[in-house]
Amino acid sequence: MGRPRKYKRPVIECECETCGKQIDRPYIYTKMPSATSFTYTKGGEKTARSQIDGAEITFHCNTECYKEYLYSK
Ligand SMILES: [Zn+2]
Repeated sequence: MGRPRKYKRPVIECECETCGKQIDRPYIYTKMPSATSFTYTKGGEKTARSQIDGAEITFHCNTECYKEYLYSK
């Protein structure tokens, strides 16, 4: 008996990194470390990016807000 799997976009309640607005479906940006020992395995299990050492995750309202975030750095 298999359980039906239906992907539902998760609701993540957080604050926008750029403007501090409360959002529940953020644009999630994952910054990968430039030097990484992580290797992709073809056809293998997907590794949750949040579990990779050095990965930096920020939440934003949308891509526009994310761009602003980049410029403000
Ligand atoms: Zn924002």
